Amino acid sequence: NSYHAEADTDFILEKNHEWAANIVKKWKNTKDTVHTIAPVVVGGEDLVGDRKIFDAIDKCQVEDGVLAGRFALANKEDINKAVAVAKADVDGWRDLTHAQRHEILKAVAIKMRERRDNLIGVASAEVGKVFTETDVEVSEAIDFVEFYTHAIRHFDDYENLEVSAKGVGVVVPPWNFPIAIPVGGVASALAAGNTVIIKPASVAALCSYEMCKCFWDAGISKNVLQFLPCPGALAGEHLIPNKDIDFLILTGGEDTAATMLETRNDLFLSAETGGKDATIVTNMADREQAVKNVCQSAFGNSGQKCSATSLLVLEDEVYNDAGFKKALIDTASSMNVGSIWDMKNRIGTLANKVSGNLERALNELEGNETWALKPEYVDGNPYMLKPSIKWGVEEGNFIHMNELFGPVLAVIKASDLEHAVKIVNATGYGLTSGIESLDEREIEYWKENLEAGNLYINRGTTGAIVLRQPFGGMGKSAIGAGRKAGFYNYVTQFVDIKETQNPK
Ligand code: GLU
Repeated sequence: NSYHAEADTDFILEKNHEWAANIVKKWKNTKDTVHTIAPVVVGGEDLVGDRKIFDAIDKCQVEDGVLAGRFALANKEDINKAVAVAKADVDGWRDLTHAQRHEILKAVAIKMRERRDNLIGVASAEVGKVFTETDVEVSEAIDFVEFYTHAIRHFDDYENLEVSAKGVGVVVPPWNFPIAIPVGGVASALAAGNTVIIKPASVAALCSYEMCKCFWDAGISKNVLQFLPCPGALAGEHLIPNKDIDFLILTGGEDTAATMLETRNDLFLSAETGGKDATIVTNMADREQAVKNVCQSAFGNSGQKCSATSLLVLEDEVYNDAGFKKALIDTASSMNVGSIWDMKNRIGTLANKVSGNLERALNELEGNETWALKPEYVDGNPYMLKPSIKWGVEEGNFIHMNELFGPVLAVIKASDLEHAVKIVNATGYGLTSGIESLDEREIEYWKENLEAGNLYINRGTTGAIVLRQPFGGMGKSAIGAGRKAGFYNYVTQFVDIKETQNPK
């Protein structure tokens, strides 16, 4: 029962070029496959019938009307049935031992390894992430499957503990990590012995379907893991209020988390709810390294990561260093935005057209003179927004305090480190945070005073690795009772534990 992290693909290696080219060939040209509709999967059955069909568009080929695929939407009856089936656990998943479940989940990891190309393909086509970003997701997904089932087996060492599944878990994942996060939720709940319903994000439902197939084909039944794509409003009305659901795993907005808790105050909610993550660059930093780390953290996947650096706090000397500013602008503008099917592009598309906080920020700052790098679309494509840098943001401004979830970096000047930490803590979020400094005393001060769950020193703020960087925050980043993903106590949220003493 040992655990090792999965390696990513090295796309530089010659032998992987053809492999990658085949992924492009299959997923860029979906004309033949798009007629197959991904079904709702409830009670062991694949259901399409006369259900509404959702067209998933390939945003890189949106003008040509190319679809990434299509899927059916569950109705109210499907939802009720799914919960009843999950509750009944007709296949006895809860009755298996940890060791038995471990064997099956190991087979799931093997399926994912075999289907890495397919998982990369679907995630690229449906949400427009570049291969290097979807590839690390597959590794993380495999890690989640293997780690959680490994973690739960620690209980086997304690005879006085009786561990039982909580019952029925519902997973509500986001679209920004369309493979890794749904897999993490499903795998943790299953490893703990629960039956699971996944309600995928509409923009990433095909990804959830492909990953469910890995579970089903490895031996998890379609009664144990059910696939229930449906509009959020329908889930809010019929799924979440159902008293037969025992817990919910959410990665999404604070509002969604709050609504869920309002609907069901008895519900155990494990939620990760975003961030307004910052990197502080002090006068003692290696400035070249800082530029590289900040750009990758701010603009990778168009900034659509809860962990993305969207606030850059510069100590005065760095702020006034024209060379630093230029390097930042040059690096950001060299990150090609474009079709993910062209491997030279470093950033793909937005998953949705600009809306919400991002739209508000861009509207408010339109025509503002202090952009270091203005926000621009690639050839007017509304899904392709280039990296932008807003210089001279003032404390308390909208883009200081709010998560935008887009490729916009807000730069604020701080008079010293203490001031910088105050600026960061003021957001009320607390997911990831970075410092660029070569001074140990500064780093110590920052670690003690900065309020965030993942503190990264001289490293970017994205890309947490299972077990190495258990992921999750505090404050507005963790509504409900969420524990860190990719760590031992995450999976123990989904079991009940009885302890018995019987002195002989
Ligand atoms: N775990 C991811 C990372 O470390 C972020 C997940 C998210 O955006 O929710 O980059």
